[in-house]
Amino acid sequence: MSSDIGLIGLAVMGQNLVLNMDRNGAQVSVFNRTSAKTTDFINGQAAGTQVKATYSLEELVASLKRPRRVMLMVQAGKAVDSVIDQLIPLLEPGDVIIDGGNSHFLDTERRSEALRAMGLHFLGVGVSASVEGALWGPSIMPGGHEEAYALMKPIFEAIAAKVNGEPCVSYIGPRGAGHYVQMVHNGIEYGDMQLIAESYDILHRGLGLNNEELKDVFERWNQGVLQSYLIEITADIFDHKDEATGAATIDLILDVAFQKGTGKWTSQSALDLSVATPTIDAAVIARGMSGIKDERMAASTTLASVEPGFRGDWDTMIDAVGDALYAAKVCSYAQGFALLGQASQQYVYNLNLGELARIWRGGCVIRAVFLNDITSSFRVQPDLPNLLMAPFFRDAVASRQSAWRRVLRAAIEMGIPTPAISASLAYFDGYRSARLPANLIQAQRDYFGAHTYERIDRPRGEYYHTDWSGRGGDVTANTYQA
Ligand code: NAP
Repeated sequence: MSSDIGLIGLAVMGQNLVLNMDRNGAQVSVFNRTSAKTTDFINGQAAGTQVKATYSLEELVASLKRPRRVMLMVQAGKAVDSVIDQLIPLLEPGDVIIDGGNSHFLDTERRSEALRAMGLHFLGVGVSASVEGALWGPSIMPGGHEEAYALMKPIFEAIAAKVNGEPCVSYIGPRGAGHYVQMVHNGIEYGDMQLIAESYDILHRGLGLNNEELKDVFERWNQGVLQSYLIEITADIFDHKDEATGAATIDLILDVAFQKGTGKWTSQSALDLSVATPTIDAAVIARGMSGIKDERMAASTTLASVEPGFRGDWDTMIDAVGDALYAAKVCSYAQGFALLGQASQQYVYNLNLGELARIWRGGCVIRAVFLNDITSSFRVQPDLPNLLMAPFFRDAVASRQSAWRRVLRAAIEMGIPTPAISASLAYFDGYRSARLPANLIQAQRDYFGAHTYERIDRPRGEYYHTDWSGRGGDVTANTYQA
């Protein structure tokens, strides 16, 4: 019997997706560059399933029903181009190549155009899941040729996570839209993780809560508005003991966080599109700061600080940290969705922002009850300029604002760094300011570089120059940018 789909790349994500497809009734052929991994998989994890091993791309393609559907779960970057190049001569017009890895959206744009010209269909698909999620149901963000989505829809809907019976998958948009959305999803994930880590730091280093107390706090938070996968696993983490030593595992882990790039790509794209994403940027940079461990160790004995230690009411402050975390998280999502809105216009992706929040409610790492409120807000007002302007979130942040500021005051006084929680508040304060000090920036630019400025007493789009020193003359600069 011919297979419904072929999957290339049997590392952890590929293996789990294959098992998920098989469990949901799809006949899958598999191929991996290193053939021993294919054999290990077939005799191990896939033993007893219908999964079919193949040992060359020719054999893989020959085993598939027409139009053929070939999904890549290989390392993002050059490997994807290399595999696509090898597949092209084996496929025929109407066949579909699906890239399910974390490819950069601009690579997906390029591949989409090139394969379209050859008559091949291409989908760039964000697959967001923990390793377990890939097996039991990921959130899937397919972008690319819409006619190819129709061919993949039944498989995607079968393997995706379900929330209230609805699959966490939806056609995202043309070309690189799926990978763009997944990239921003990952940027938001960076923000969530950093906000939680800073809350932990305030509670642990500042208030002195031990792991048992931290577990209780996070379990309590997981009963309320913060209920989410990341809060749930954080409570579990505080409970875990190292097998060898019996010590709390969290206390044995080196405080250096790595990254694979998608958070950084989000910030880079936001800079390209001039969209403010300070919380996500702070989260990316915080991993950089964590990386200079030796320098930090040296500085910790050299650079004096204030005496740490919290004076105040513990219980009130613990609740205030929860409020600050929630308000900061709202601001982080507001930034992510503002970026998605701008990218949708810039790249003509026609994104449905409420639908994105809907498909992130299951399977993926940022799944959270709170995403229901985002979906509802965009359903009520699809052209919402910013999540903070939705009545639900406006009120939710307003009621937590004083706690949020109190937490940051306490953290600053204790010398505990809160780059992401602070960045969220600065975003909130910036967004709600009718007048920012950019007038002074414009005056400085005009003073030293004759860059001109707009005036509040004249229509927008009219530009004026002042000879500030009396020695600058009337010539304005329209090429030199600073
Ligand atoms: P990975 O470590 O990113 O990639 C390893 C796989 O790529 C192996 O099957 C490897 O084959 C294959 N590969 C590498 N270079 C190749 C080449 N030049 N030609 C052919 N095959 C090549 O695997 P992963 O962690 O399972 O992730 C797969 C994709 O999903 C990646 O894009 C990743 O970013 C994305 N993703 C991962 C996660 C996660 O949590 N791990 C979550 C979401 C998305 P060999 O066995 O022959 O080396």
